[in-house]
Amino acid sequence: MKVAFLGLGIMGHAMATNLAKAGHEVTVWNRTPGKNVEGARTAASPAEAAQGVEVVWMCLSDTAAVESVLFGANGVETSLTDGMIIADSSTISPSATRHFAERIAPKGVKYVDSPVTGSKTGAESGTLIFIVGGDEATIEKLKPLYAAMGKKIFRIGETGKGQSAKIVMNLQIALIYEGFAEALTLAAKLGVEAQTLMPLIQASMVNSGVVTYKAPFVLGRDFSANFPLKLMRKDIRLALEAAKESRVKLPGLETVEDIYDVAIEDGHADLDYAATLLLLEKWAGIEVKGQAA
Ligand code: NAP
Repeated sequence: MKVAFLGLGIMGHAMATNLAKAGHEVTVWNRTPGKNVEGARTAASPAEAAQGVEVVWMCLSDTAAVESVLFGANGVETSLTDGMIIADSSTISPSATRHFAERIAPKGVKYVDSPVTGSKTGAESGTLIFIVGGDEATIEKLKPLYAAMGKKIFRIGETGKGQSAKIVMNLQIALIYEGFAEALTLAAKLGVEAQTLMPLIQASMVNSGVVTYKAPFVLGRDFSANFPLKLMRKDIRLALEAAKESRVKLPGLETVEDIYDVAIEDGHADLDYAATLLLLEKWAGIEVKGQAA
């Protein structure tokens, strides 16, 4: 298929690479020039990338980035023609997603929110899970592209519902990881080393996908970004905004948001969200010792 891929960050670069490897005709664009993808053409603007393609796929930081790439100067909007599909793998606001879809609908363009879970390794290995909102016939047309980048698709409902499900997934990841980080910190203070605790965690119901994924990085003290802390705070805020809109109270997540705010003040915005541990360690006056599993 002819695809424009917009946004070559941690996730987007790997996703576009897998599309090109699978034989799709890919044109890429990134805000900061100099990023290219082997086997793909590089365009100078979103409008140029989207010219004449069947599908425009985005993987951008946040709601404002998606809005400007779609509707800003040299945005995708000017190149949209009847029958095109926009798929968005950024994690952004569900209500803004519905609004963007309504704006492009008069041009005969369908909008499928397609946020992902699986992080950097899932993007690189083509094993992402897509959490999808949109009509079934349009999703069917996208299946060869999902197959090139991922291993599973969950259709949650109409456009916007993919984003709703994605933010409640990240709500859980943020809380589960914080539980793990607090447990490691208290254990260290109580004289129980991480490598002694880990086999117990792994043998019990405490073990989880989040712990399995994060433990080797944390114990190896590698806090480089798989999923940047600032982006997890963005998702925490998306969940809190959606909760406010729907009059739901999320006290645990509100507390975790405070921890992220201070971690960002401490200069950890571009590290992985696992680096909230560094703040807990600072408060406790201790460092969790371990070795990569
Ligand atoms: P990233 O590495 O920070 O990449 C962000 C991308 O967005 C870059 O291409 C950046 O361009 C672009 N961008 C930011 N602001 C922009 C703007 N105003 N206009 C145009 N382009 C803009 O982030 P990522 O980890 O790939 O994440 C991308 C999306 O996927 C986010 O919504 C994130 O929440 C979601 N996600 C990430 C993970 C993960 O584990 N990393 C997992 C699931 C979902 P520049 O190069 O010019 O900065």
